[in-house]
Amino acid sequence: MADSTARATIHAGGEWLAAASGATREIIDPADGLPCAVVAEGDERDAELAVAAARRAFDAGDWPGTPVAERAALLRRVADLLVRDREQLGLLESRDAGKTVEEGRVDIDCVADAFRYFADLVTAEGAGRVVDAGSADVHSVVVHEPVGVCALITPWNYPLLQASWKIAPALAAGNTFVVKPSELTPLTTVALIGLLAEAGLPAGVAGLVTGPGRTVGARLAGHPDVDLVSFTGGLASGIEVARAAAPTVKKVALELGGKNPNVVFADACATPEDFDTAVDQALNAAFIHSGQVCSAGTRLIVEEPVRERFVAELARRAARIRLGRGTADGVECGPLVSERQRAKVEAYVASALAEGAVLRTGGKRPEPSADRPATGYFYEPTVLDRCHREMRVVREEVFGPVLTVETFRTEDEALALANDTEYGLAGAVWSTDAGKARRVAGRLRHGTVWINDYHPYLPQAEWGGFGKSGTGRELGPTGLAEYRETKHVYQNLAPRPVRWFAG
Ligand code: NAD
Repeated sequence: MADSTARATIHAGGEWLAAASGATREIIDPADGLPCAVVAEGDERDAELAVAAARRAFDAGDWPGTPVAERAALLRRVADLLVRDREQLGLLESRDAGKTVEEGRVDIDCVADAFRYFADLVTAEGAGRVVDAGSADVHSVVVHEPVGVCALITPWNYPLLQASWKIAPALAAGNTFVVKPSELTPLTTVALIGLLAEAGLPAGVAGLVTGPGRTVGARLAGHPDVDLVSFTGGLASGIEVARAAAPTVKKVALELGGKNPNVVFADACATPEDFDTAVDQALNAAFIHSGQVCSAGTRLIVEEPVRERFVAELARRAARIRLGRGTADGVECGPLVSERQRAKVEAYVASALAEGAVLRTGGKRPEPSADRPATGYFYEPTVLDRCHREMRVVREEVFGPVLTVETFRTEDEALALANDTEYGLAGAVWSTDAGKARRVAGRLRHGTVWINDYHPYLPQAEWGGFGKSGTGRELGPTGLAEYRETKHVYQNLAPRPVRWFAG
């Protein structure tokens, strides 16, 4: 396994390599802005090398031809190794992405769950199905086969989790792959490639190129020897990936951003306990991992009669969130991933205030403290009241700790606001009226809808978006199907001439 601080972080044909150009990149700890590791800065040449190795491994046929039970056993061994290395990987994820160590640990648990889930699923699904062709002389089967070489491109907010939602089903289905983690947060993906080898994955099946999207990512997406590209990231990059992939007509799965509504009806706040739960979960929805979550509930859409009470309590609690270095005791939220990301958040808040939003809390960088170096990329949890749908901060994905508040008086109005987005990733509805909650959930145009909850996902349930939140689905049976070709084999057991042509 390559040490995470080594410069040979490119993996092709079972070898750990430096970048062809010799270039390296410092990985920055966002809690203090200081380098915490150095990786290879790959470019198109490294992408070429990794794709060629993955192609050779696929065409040799060993991994695609490995029995499903053996592939599943390997995935389970990977899950066990992840559990073994949970502390170390959780810490690495925390330092790399700025999340708290506890969040890092939970991420690693979820990664192990994804490997186990796809091991179970691929075993349960079997080899395919027999189709009744309507004749005793015909044997007709529909079988699953791997797609081929997969390019897997991932973002920085959940580095290893997003990678695992692609790598586990890709391997379960018998593909070979080249993964390109975000250039900001590659460390745990590098570590995972080491664990795959330790679990016994044959050399060449797994490839990795660390490096930028515009070079490595773009080359992978456009490469003629890549059969599938699965991309998780922002809308603009997703469009570029789809464009690069189009001439080679490869399979494309896009998992993009969100602008997710959290709809709170007044009846969900009727008792002190219900009110506390709804506020607490709204806080969690918006501010966990400093809002750098694709499904973050950043648009609070609250029924007018409870607005003031709800927003006052939410702002009071948001102001108390303990910001700091993810490895420090008692810290609840880490920094933003980069200076650039914080500048983007600051620009959105400034534009919202210029457009008439009312700042209820936050809206600035916090004072430095022992756990919060002045050089870290911290930003206070921010609540913007009196927002409306024409504001950029309401329409565009901020990807930071910024919650906007809109209000409604009728169910239809709540739905119109909640669905008024080009995205459609996730959303929630809070009501003690089960009928109303189900009715609203049924009309929300989002890929995941929570009723009286926010954020849980299940490996067994598909994850993905409507609209510009993407074109694919990860997890669940569809998350495996993305990595499979379906082939119909029709066998005539008693061939005879058809005599369509008389001559
Ligand atoms: P990003 O689009 O900047 O980068 C994502 C990945 O794509 C990185 O590895 C990057 O290097 C690469 N990339 C960038 N341009 C590319 C190009 N032209 N060709 C090929 N690859 C390219 O996104 P980010 O800032 O890393 O992540 C945040 C975004 O990810 C947010 O929009 C968030 O909503 C989204 N996201 C979505 C999900 C989901 O499940 N739908 C999950 C997590 C994050």
